[in-house]
Amino acid sequence: MTTSKVTSTAAASGYGQRQQLARLCHGARLVRPLARLRTLLRDDLRILAYHRVLESVEPAGFDFDVELISASAERFHEQMAFVRRRFHPMRFDEVMALFEAGRRMPPRAILISFDDGYDDNHRIAFPILKDLGLSAMFFVATGHIDSGAPYAYDWLVHMICTTEATQLSAPELGLEAALPESLTGRRALANEVLDRLKSLHDGAQEAFIARLEREWGIWRHVGHVNCRPMSWDQLREMQGAGMEIGSHGVGHRMLAKLSLAQMAEEVCESKATLDRELGTSVQVLSYPVGGPDAFNAQVIETVRQSGFRMACSYIAGTDTVRPDSRYSLRRLPVERSMDTAWFEAMVSLPELFGYPTRSRLRAG
Ligand SMILES: [Zn+2]
Repeated sequence: MTTSKVTSTAAASGYGQRQQLARLCHGARLVRPLARLRTLLRDDLRILAYHRVLESVEPAGFDFDVELISASAERFHEQMAFVRRRFHPMRFDEVMALFEAGRRMPPRAILISFDDGYDDNHRIAFPILKDLGLSAMFFVATGHIDSGAPYAYDWLVHMICTTEATQLSAPELGLEAALPESLTGRRALANEVLDRLKSLHDGAQEAFIARLEREWGIWRHVGHVNCRPMSWDQLREMQGAGMEIGSHGVGHRMLAKLSLAQMAEEVCESKATLDRELGTSVQVLSYPVGGPDAFNAQVIETVRQSGFRMACSYIAGTDTVRPDSRYSLRRLPVERSMDTAWFEAMVSLPELFGYPTRSRLRAG
């Protein structure tokens, strides 16, 4: 067993510099002219990627994964108003139709997407989108919509934030660490655990989380107020109001870390369940976690053969929809640390101000 020093990943200096530069450019009114210039040179597709929108990005007593809060309600409203004002918001089905007809995307085309299916998407994000006349895609893990159970990685963070144990022994991750007293320290440790867990195959990830549940006696239960998936009725209501729903697997498992049979089952079952519950043919999937190690050529082929027509990764960037990229579309993650200047600079000039791809489990 090795002992590793746990380092905070929350505020790497690169992010700070990016934010500073965004503020400078924004303050000097450089973002808009540079964005106009970029539009002349590139007509690519932007896909914003959100997870949770809550009343605040630092809610009191919140002991789940705070990094999954993409924006506060107020900031999300401001971001969506900006997107509507400066870009050409589209739906995934419109983009697909243009692509399949061999037509070009309009300039400044943008899509809005959410991963996982937390109930705050319905409670907070949906009314804001509706008010502004925008549509978004909600990628949901069907097993969690069925069961109402919290997501495994969220529960892992929750356990680390709340356990009364004093030591985390994780030989399978090469990690032995004292549980810090502060919530900030525990969040940093949880980041480290998530980072390391992603290299394990699916069964080992599941076994590790189950072992901690057992040893610490913090059993995953349905209905925790801070970590609830949406219900089918909520999804049907959103779909009826112009939102799109897509697949994020059944159990939010990294598809490339499963056996071929299990992977195919996750993909096919999620589609069959969504099609049945929503009375439509769901066309788009987002790979759970979504980094380079979360999907591969075999996963892409299975997704294509299962009837999906597009798929999103969680790799940062913009896209030109092409036959060879339609199943690995890049997105622009929105993070809670983004202030107004940074968000506007990031969407306008993603190459300069986009959040770097993270391979961490919470991604996607
Ligand atoms: Zn996810």
